[in-house]
Amino acid sequence: MCAYDCVRAGQAVLIVYQGDLEHTSSFYAQGGIAAAWLDSDSTAQHMTDTMMAGDGLCDPRVVQDFCDHAPAFIQRLIDLGVPFDQDAGGYRLTKEGAHEHSRIFHVKDHTGTSIIQTLGHHLKDHPLVQWENHALQGVLQSSDQSRVIGVRFNDQNYLAPNTVLATGGFSNIFSRSTNPRPNIGEGIALAYAVGAPVGDLEFIQFHPTVFCTDSHPPLLISEALRGEGAFLVNKNNERFMKKYHELEDLAPRDVVSRAMIQESGPKLNIVPLMTSIQYRFPTIYHALQARGFSQHDIEIPVQPLVHYTLGGIVAKPNGQTEKPGLFAIGECSLTGFHGANRLASNSLLEAGIMGQRCASFLIQHAKSHHHNDTSHHLTSMDPLASEDLIFLGHLTNQALGVIRSSNELTSAIDSLGGHPQKDHPMFLFLMAILHSALHRKESRGGHYRSDFPDTHANARHSLVAHSHELLHVDAI
Ligand SMILES: Cc1cc2nc3c(=O)[nH]c(=O)nc-3n(C[C@H](O)[C@H](O)[C@H](O)COP(=O)(O)OP(=O)(O)OC[C@H]3O[C@@H](n4cnc5c(N)ncnc54)[C@H](O)[C@@H]3O)c2cc1C
Repeated sequence: MCAYDCVRAGQAVLIVYQGDLEHTSSFYAQGGIAAAWLDSDSTAQHMTDTMMAGDGLCDPRVVQDFCDHAPAFIQRLIDLGVPFDQDAGGYRLTKEGAHEHSRIFHVKDHTGTSIIQTLGHHLKDHPLVQWENHALQGVLQSSDQSRVIGVRFNDQNYLAPNTVLATGGFSNIFSRSTNPRPNIGEGIALAYAVGAPVGDLEFIQFHPTVFCTDSHPPLLISEALRGEGAFLVNKNNERFMKKYHELEDLAPRDVVSRAMIQESGPKLNIVPLMTSIQYRFPTIYHALQARGFSQHDIEIPVQPLVHYTLGGIVAKPNGQTEKPGLFAIGECSLTGFHGANRLASNSLLEAGIMGQRCASFLIQHAKSHHHNDTSHHLTSMDPLASEDLIFLGHLTNQALGVIRSSNELTSAIDSLGGHPQKDHPMFLFLMAILHSALHRKESRGGHYRSDFPDTHANARHSLVAHSHELLHVDAI
């Protein structure tokens, strides 16, 4: 959205991406995008649901801002051509976990794909857009390191008046996640390495219903199936969620994930969807068939898997970070919208609105910063070898799962600190995540400690700056 608005205003945009554009979280997004649209719903209720899920750490001003602007953003997507599902009564909105009302706009179960294809169609052959398929190798700063002045990739330096990171979250540091391969947080690690503060890194959302086999990538079974009647059962076929939360199967994701690891053999019963699943959720239906399911199977074995990382580069709603010249939008940013746990279908909303806001800012300030200085300071990052990625994957699985403890976190910090790569930006970033988790001596949202199961009365953010000092602050 940021690139789209910039080129419409006549700005040249260089888009650097890694791998295949079809393997991004945005492309994978199934469930949809939230906005209070129906007369029976309200922005105030969308705010309340967002803040309930966020478990005390949402910034109410940011929540109000994004929820207020959600209907206009949906209208913009409609005007651009996103074909949200409709029926005779208008847009066919669905419900997901912790939403009080049906407010999720969707295109069957491939909403993200439709949004990206719609925007991509406008940008694909645009003369102002240069596409570069390369991994970032570093960030360039002015020689006094006061301002970001570009990036390095393909062994070359590219100067730009402004650099926008939209590199997604870091779920895929774990050895298995719902995310595409590049989402290991390299953008956040680089921002941290050049001194942009990062925060709330310990909050990690597990999606409760993922179908995992050894022969296929993990398959996310959207919460919208539970929103439309599917329900969880244990190995004795008991519906167990009523024991854990009044919202039962639609409780916040952290509650459902913890319940599932306490129950044995959890499965998703899809009997209420038997006649509709192939039309309403065709992507999931076909993926299940590819994994050996027949149309008569009524239960899918599911487990929680890491899905969304709440923390990131501290940024304003327009993406501005504390480092001049550097912007962060989408999942790599931390705005205070999601708090300690994200309400389902709020992240495409955040990414889209931030993209629009960032573009407006860049267009307004387009001419103010041109770097004429030929000297620069490069903060580089070599790609990690596969054995290092395997090491980090095991470490995060062990220490940063659904339930954490001081022993596991301390032992992970020790092994990371003793590793030959300990000064690599990704290792330093992971060290910041582990310290944030160790020093949050409470349980809240996407951070649950078996040794500190209670929630503190005073909700505080954790913030790490380049000095590696961990601070607990009331607001970000
Ligand atoms: C399976 C799945 C289903 C989801 N469903 C929903 C949903 O229904 N509704 C919702 O609101 N949210 C959903 N989410 C979350 C949501 O999709 C993401 O939070 C959001 O799309 C993130 O967008 P982004 O632009 O920040 O990152 P992404 O879409 O992940 O894009 C990141 C980009 O950065 C590039 N990149 C990363 N590292 C580098 C590097 N080092 N060098 C160069 N390029 C790099 C990647 O290649 C990619 O192009 C879902 C997520 C997943 C994984």
